[in-house]
Order: sequence, then C-alpha cells, then structure tokens
Amino acid sequence: MDVLVSLCKRRGFIFQSSEIYGGTGAAWDYGPLGVELKNNIKRAWWRDNIHLRPDMVGLDASILMHPQVWKASGHLDHFTDPMVDCKACQHRFRADKVEEQSWIHYCPATKGNKFEVPAGEPCKHCNVRRSLCPDCGKGELTTPRQFNLMFKTFMGPVEEDAAVTYLRPETAQGIFVNFDNVLQSMRLKLPFGIAQIGKAFRNEITPGNFIFRTREFEQMEIEFFVNPLETIDGRPADEVWHERWIESRFAWYQRYGMRRENLRIREHEKDELAHYAKRTVDIEYQFPIGWSELEGVANRTDFDLKQHAQFSGKSLTYFDEERKQHVVPYVIEPSAGADRSLLAFLADAYREEEVRGERRVVLRFHPDLAPVKIAVLPLLKKRPEIVTTAHDLRATLARRWVTVYDDTAAIGRLYRRQDEVGTPYCVTVDVQTVGDSAKGESGDRCVTIRERDSMEQIRVPIAELPGIFERLLGDGAWADVARSYPPARG
Ligand code: ATP
Repeated sequence: MDVLVSLCKRRGFIFQSSEIYGGTGAAWDYGPLGVELKNNIKRAWWRDNIHLRPDMVGLDASILMHPQVWKASGHLDHFTDPMVDCKACQHRFRADKVEEQSWIHYCPATKGNKFEVPAGEPCKHCNVRRSLCPDCGKGELTTPRQFNLMFKTFMGPVEEDAAVTYLRPETAQGIFVNFDNVLQSMRLKLPFGIAQIGKAFRNEITPGNFIFRTREFEQMEIEFFVNPLETIDGRPADEVWHERWIESRFAWYQRYGMRRENLRIREHEKDELAHYAKRTVDIEYQFPIGWSELEGVANRTDFDLKQHAQFSGKSLTYFDEERKQHVVPYVIEPSAGADRSLLAFLADAYREEEVRGERRVVLRFHPDLAPVKIAVLPLLKKRPEIVTTAHDLRATLARRWVTVYDDTAAIGRLYRRQDEVGTPYCVTVDVQTVGDSAKGESGDRCVTIRERDSMEQIRVPIAELPGIFERLLGDGAWADVARSYPPARG
C-alpha cells in the first residue's frame, strides 16, 4: 500500500487533504491524474449501467435531505458502529475491528520488552492474546458503546434542534424518496432501476488504509425495482434479478481489467444480514490490506419503500395492470464505492517489471480508464520543426482524446514516466518525420507509436493517426492494428 500511496502523491493522482496543515487521515484530494481516473471509472459505470440498458435511468439527488428521511430509513436509530476507547492513550477503535490490526505488547516472558504482534495472533514468547489497547499496549479498553456514524449539521442560520439535519451517509435514500417522481415522469414499467453517483459521508471511528475507508467518499448505487408477484422460470423474480446483478457487477470489474483471481463473492451469514435483507453478497477484492468489500449487492425487499410510505403518508406503490392491484416493489441494490473501485483498479494495474536490466513501473490500466490516452513526445526539443509538429499533433488529438505533450527529459525517461501513469500510447516525432530543411531534405510525415504493455513500436503516417486511435482506443486490438504498419526502431 505504501508504494501506491507514494506513487499517487508523486505523480499527481491523490494528495492528503489539507496537507499543508498536517493533513487529515480521513479525507483525500484527487490531483490532475486522479480526477481523470475517477471520472473515467464513473463514466464507464454510468455508460454500462444506464446508457446501455433499456431498463435503467439516472438521478442526482441532493446531499441534504429532510431529517425524517433518516428516521424512516432507520439510520438515526441503527446506523451505528460499536466503539471502544483506551483508558490510557484515549485512542478510539471500532470494537469489531480491533482484532484486525497488529498490537503492541510488553511481554512479561522477555522482561517486558516491547513487540508488535501481527493481527489476531498470540505473542510467540508468552502465548498471551491481546487484551489491552492495540496502540499503546498499556490501557484497558472500555466496554463497547454504540456510535452513530452520521454527520450532524444545521439547516439555516439558527443552531437549534428543529434545524438539525444530516449529511447523507448513502445515496440510496435519495432514490427511494424519488421513486414515485421517477416512475410517473418517465412512465416506467417494472422491472426498472434508478442509478445515482454521489458523495456520502460517514463519521467512521477508524478511517484509514488510504482511500479504502474515509469519512467523505463517493458511491455508485443502483436500486433495481422488481414486482414481487412475478416469477421467472418458476422462481421469485427478485431472487433471479439478484443473481443477475451479482453476475453483472462481478463481470464489470473484469471488463475493465481487474484480474479474476483478485475478485471473489462472499455470502453474508444469516446473523450478519440486515434485518430487512433477504440476501446480501459482497464482491470482495484482494486489496494490499487483504480481502475486503468492494461492493455490496443486497436484496432489500420492500423495506425502504414501505418505511418511507409510512413516515411520509404518501403512497409508494406500483400499479400492476395485469393483476389489477397495487404492489410495493422489492429492490435489489448493487452499491459500489467509486474511491474503493479506484484503489482496486490501481492496485490491480500496478506492475514492476525488468526491461533490459532496468526496473520499470507500469500501470496497466484499461484504455477506457487510463487518465491520459496519448502522450506526444518530441525526440529532440532543440529542433523547432519537431516541437511545432508535436504541439500541432497534440492539439489535433486532444479534440478527441486526453492527450499531453512532454519534452522535459530524454525519450527513454519520457516513456518510463508515461508507463508509470498508465498512458497506453506514446507518439514520437523525430528528425525523419520533419526532415532537414537546411539540407533540403523533406520529412516522411510519419511518427512512431509505442504501445505501453508490449513496448512495441510501429511507424505510421501522421494523416492516419486519428483513424488508428479511433481503432486502438475503441475496440481494436494493438496486434491487429500493428500488423498493417512497419515496426519502428526501439
Ligand atoms: P464496510 O463494511 O467496509 O464499512 P459497508 O458494508 O458499511 O462497508 P455499504 O454501506 O454497503 O458499506 O456501502 C457500499 C459501498 O460504499 C462499499 O462497498 C464501499 O465500496 C463504499 N464505502 C462504504 N463506506 C466507505 C468508506 N468509509 N470509505 C470509502 N468507501 C466506502
């Protein structure tokens, strides 16, 4: 994880929030390349789950909502984590996560020497298990208390109880309270889904592990409404749709390059299920911190719509024309984190390779996710014709794809820098491209394209570049395109 954090800072992906004031461990800022990467992930999710499907529509609900929303949803009463405090150092922990961190131990069998013992293991000298504070190794922990994770604030200029509201801890409730608006305005028929991407806030007791757990983060959520009276092949429709969504979301991460062996499905045990959930699975990723949740896919039954109908006094039903009756739809909720997805895509793309005795770091991003698609590089920055041609090329290609120009180092170094941020293609303008007017030699108006993963190079006419990138950054494979052009010298 440290390697990723350092790369992210050095190359402008992610910075610690308010770093010049010492930073906060609970919030992070996306830099120039990070914002491109995150936008690309969100765009791919939106396109695949909304634009390409006939049964989905989008929504962008506000972060501040009527406080009753959180009473109805159960968040005010139940959105809590058990918290314990150290009586000596006052550090605070989530009671259910204390065993997941390494612990400090002053071992009596070694005259009180201090050791850091791995998470969940006993001390190998005295065989004792952790009972005190894992951070200081001295203080006792208090008994667990429930701590509500919602951020409280005031709506309007008066700080009084009547004005209390909350920053939303999930985007989902914005969808439920708009169910009828969307249903009526879009004339939808079940089954259909409403999707939303937006910020959520949770006052996590122990944020950490970089962007894995923060207090401000972005969610990509779908609420897919199903008629509970319907069956598909003799099975309840909600159960079948739940399986379809698990499959679809599991495949989505692989479509954008995540390796199958780093993904798994974890079924929630009965005692872990939320009281309203019929079934929940987590899609887990093998993060540098171990297997952890990337996305949850839950069958929330009719709980949310019924709760909001009861608290608001408004009907939130669907009229089933065929059966001539009102039904409260069941809902399947695939709920993903944009930041966690970004961390997983980043970890999966990261490779260290040995090339001709040199170490190269490369981010093997799927081209759709790569923050920069093309880098235009001049071989010699002292030759004005080369530089001008390269700038012109950048300007032309940038109309269609994110394209950068860089001349701040020798070509080998420039390639390595682009590899390190995952740019799939570099275009190099050299002497042969422009010729030498002093000697009366005209150039061949061809440039070199270098592919990031294979490091292969081909020589192509400038005039054909837009068409070539249309293929390469569309569905075309490098090998198919490269076959039509001569190789360039490496
Ligand atoms: P966890 O068990 O990790 O706290 P959760 O089960 O509470 O997660 P959900 O409520 O299911 O999470 O939220 C859906 C998704 O939102 C998660 O799968 C994750 O990707 C993202 N998410 C939730 N909490 C955070 C957080 N504090 N920081 C970053 N992403 C988060």
